[in-house]
Amino acid sequence: MNTASIAIADALATLEAEIAAAAAVAGRPRAAITLTAVSKTQPVARLEEALAAGLRTFGENRVQEAEARWPALRSHHSDLHLRLIGPLQTNKAADAVALFDVIETVDRDRLAIAIAKEQQRQGRQIGCLIQVNTGEEPQKAGILPAEADAFIDRCRGEHGLTIRGLMCIPPADQPAAPHFAFLAEMARRHGLPELSMGMSADFATAIRLGATHIRIGSALFGARG
Ligand SMILES: *Cc1c(COP(=O)(O)O)cnc(C)c1O
Repeated sequence: MNTASIAIADALATLEAEIAAAAAVAGRPRAAITLTAVSKTQPVARLEEALAAGLRTFGENRVQEAEARWPALRSHHSDLHLRLIGPLQTNKAADAVALFDVIETVDRDRLAIAIAKEQQRQGRQIGCLIQVNTGEEPQKAGILPAEADAFIDRCRGEHGLTIRGLMCIPPADQPAAPHFAFLAEMARRHGLPELSMGMSADFATAIRLGATHIRIGSALFGARG
C-alpha cells in the first residue's frame, strides 16, 4: 500500500467522528480528550499535511528524529505541542527538555533526576507523565506497577518534577481494557489529571475508561512502512 495515498484530512475527519462517538457513549465532553498525532517516521511533507489539516499536538518516539524536523516547523506554528512518547536515555535528557512540552515516558529515578537537573539548568519547566509497564513485560519500558506508587511520590516530592499523569502501552496480545482501568485507578489515587492511553486499535476503549490523551499513528497517517 502506498501510505501517501491516504489524505490526512480525510483520515482525521473519520477519526474525529469516532472520537466524538466514543466520548458521547462515555458521557464525556469531546474537549476532555486530546488527539496526539504520532508522527514518528513520517516525512516532513506528511507533517506539513497534518499541520494543514489542523493538527497541533504531535507525539514522537525518538529525540534525534524529532530534533531533525520539528524546530523548523515550529518557527511557523507557535501553537505546536510536542510530546515524547518513546523511551528516553538519560544522556538525551537535555535535548528532550529543550524540545518537548511533555515527556510521557519517565520511568526511573536516574532519568527523573536528569530531567529535573536540565529543567533547572535551562530555566524551563515541562510536563511529565510516568510510564507504567502495566503488563510487566520485560522488553517494555515503564515502571513496574508494584513500584509505581512510591516512584510517583518521589518524582513529585524529591525530584520536583511536574507530574501531570500516567501513560501505558498494554501488551499487544491482551485485551487493553483491564490495563486502562488499572492505570485510571492509579491516576485517580494520586490525583493526577492526565491519562495517555489508547492507540489506533483501542482508543475507543481508552476513552471509555478515561483517557485524556490518545496517541494515534496509523489511523491518521496510514500503516508505517
Ligand atoms: C507508534 C506508537 C503509537 C501509535 O500507534 P498506532 O497503532 O499507529 O496508532 C502510540 N503510542 C506509542 C508509544 C507508539 O510508539
